[in-house]
Amino acid sequence: MTAPAPGDDAGLEGPAGGTPQPRSGEGASRAINSRSHGDTWDIATSVGATAVMVASARAAETASEQPLIRDEFAQMLIDGPELAALVAKMSTTYTADPELEAVRAHMVNYQAARTHFFDAYFRAAAAAGIRQHVILAAGLDSRAYRLDWPAGTSVYEVDQPKVLEYKAATLAAHGVQPVVDRHEVPADLRFDWPKTLRGKGFDPAQRTAWLAEGLLMFLPGEAEDRLFTDIDALSAPGSRVCIEDFTFDDAAREAYEKRRAKTDELRRRLGDENVFDPGDLWYTEDERCDPAAWFDTHSWRVEALAGRDYLTQVGRPLPEEPNVAATFRAVFVSAEKP
Ligand code: SAM
Repeated sequence: MTAPAPGDDAGLEGPAGGTPQPRSGEGASRAINSRSHGDTWDIATSVGATAVMVASARAAETASEQPLIRDEFAQMLIDGPELAALVAKMSTTYTADPELEAVRAHMVNYQAARTHFFDAYFRAAAAAGIRQHVILAAGLDSRAYRLDWPAGTSVYEVDQPKVLEYKAATLAAHGVQPVVDRHEVPADLRFDWPKTLRGKGFDPAQRTAWLAEGLLMFLPGEAEDRLFTDIDALSAPGSRVCIEDFTFDDAAREAYEKRRAKTDELRRRLGDENVFDPGDLWYTEDERCDPAAWFDTHSWRVEALAGRDYLTQVGRPLPEEPNVAATFRAVFVSAEKP
């Protein structure tokens, strides 16, 4: 996929003046491994593939005996012929090593709990009268197709154009249409996505419910800061935001390094084409602000809940393997603008 020409109204062009500068020199945004400034992808490649990873966990949960959530579109979405090689690659990776099998098993529980939490967030926002919702990094999120939205609701989905196109085209091919006024916002969340969002009809004067689920690790630290600033600037009083915050502390970093060593070894053994590691795509070196503290400082009312506490609340087990536990330490941050 080639980058669009500068000036395309797609929020995909880099900012004027080249690579965005970080807030501090030490934590400079450093694209690691396969990431680079302005890289783009479709659903089967690079960061797009991570949307398939989480949708496959939702599909597995939906097909389980006592599902916590039902996403009947997840299986349909990962069954696309374009994704057969990727799905096989993920399966080979997870079955090649006991720790990776444990990661996969926990991922199904974790995605079930996370989807359950954020579904409830949107339902509560709708019940409170919010009619404008923005799903940042929507990927294969099917909420615009499966939640019971009140009449007059708009859902804006921001992601790379080919990711959004794949979802809509695949579901349409199965006769599935959105149950809400769904707007595709093809944009890169590292750059000027607010311009594209406004261009699609988003109204900053209306209360909005925002979601950033499965996103922050794929953004450089300075883009994360700018994301929060943009959300704040586009939010009328009474708006809400929910964020999945990946706490990348020392324990998580150590577990991550061990996991990377393991997948490197698997690559040597099985071949690169047979090993999937989302860690290739994270910006792990960047300084990051704490989302809860950021919104608190900007006068939003903030609540934070550890993902593990929510898993316990909904009756799902925590990982036994310490290395796996260390990499699933997300916090669900919810905030409301007074
Ligand atoms: N939120 C979805 C979910 O939970 O099912 C998808 C999560 S998936 C792990 C990450 C998503 O973030 C992908 O769909 C990817 O395309 C999107 N993404 C990551 N960085 C992005 C960027 N700079 N601009 C637009 N989308 C981005």
